[in-house]
Amino acid sequence: MIDILSLNLQETEQAIIPLGLEKYRAKQIYTWLHDRRCRNFADMTNISTAMRTKLSENFCIKSLKIYKKLESKIDNTVKYLFELEDTQYIETVLMEYDHGNSLCVSTQVGCKMGCDFCASTKAGFIRNLTPAEILLQIYETEYDSNKKISNVVLMGIGEPLDNYDNTIKFLELCGISMRNVSLSTCGLIPQIYKLAEEKLPLTLSISLHSAIQQKREKIMPVAKKYPLKELIECCKKYIETTHRRITFEYTCIDGFNISRDDADALIKLLRGINCHINLIPVNTIKEANYNVSQINIEKFKTFLQERNFNVTIRRRLGADINAACGQLKREVEKNK
Ligand code: SAH
Repeated sequence: MIDILSLNLQETEQAIIPLGLEKYRAKQIYTWLHDRRCRNFADMTNISTAMRTKLSENFCIKSLKIYKKLESKIDNTVKYLFELEDTQYIETVLMEYDHGNSLCVSTQVGCKMGCDFCASTKAGFIRNLTPAEILLQIYETEYDSNKKISNVVLMGIGEPLDNYDNTIKFLELCGISMRNVSLSTCGLIPQIYKLAEEKLPLTLSISLHSAIQQKREKIMPVAKKYPLKELIECCKKYIETTHRRITFEYTCIDGFNISRDDADALIKLLRGINCHINLIPVNTIKEANYNVSQINIEKFKTFLQERNFNVTIRRRLGADINAACGQLKREVEKNK
């Protein structure tokens, strides 16, 4: 059975022609699936019954089930725990901003990257999500919340560039302007070079978390394979190729990466690069005792701003529903 929601229009055409369907039918099917969000070939009423039967014998339409849903009482953040068809779980977070509704989507079940402060990686890696499974996070959330998603951030469970082809296919299918998409990576250099060549006007976010090589290695194993020096070189090339500014994410941890020396190293590393620094207050997870105080982040921010860097602090949304990635999934799996 072919997973039809993972196919683009051209692939849908190629897949239906051998079944004896005319090429133009692909557009009809595509509209049913993606615009009308139809979940059943039987409901595709402008296609003959015989053809619909053929389609259902050869294709499947994937789905996600809402296993759990947590709604914040502080802001309107909603966290979904979706169950996949093979009973794996992924998290998706819906956030309301002035500029629209933003969805944080997962790209893998688990993660191989092993960042020390991140809950998503603690149970290891299970599998990549298909393009349909990434896409359905948007569709199911829109259906359940009755809200239109205008922005997507690939910052949920998983490393999007470690699931490169399916992530790119998802971007092609999602129908959201690439200017409203942010893709976050821990810094897989070969894939960043590849992404640059796609020339997509999305925002690339690099999880930096320290500008000092030894420190970065301590919390991010990937830093050993892809050292800072090469990563920054790669980022410069990315900007040159895409003409897009890069965001550097910097998760702030007290007593670890927000001292004066850390700020100096960061300034030295990023000086002259067309970038934005997004400071993230570390979300404390059960597996690691990391904390940060708002005052210390503010100080770090001011220090960088005074040196003409474009810096923001990420708003903490859904604090009461554990909205940081991977935590709900871990909890539910432990209790099962
Ligand atoms: N694998 C990708 C995307 C997923 S994580 C990446 O590494 O970028 C999205 C962002 O949240 C990353 O910057 C990640 O380092 C950060 N993050 C993960 N766990 C966190 C935590 N407990 N507190 C704060 N930020 C965290």
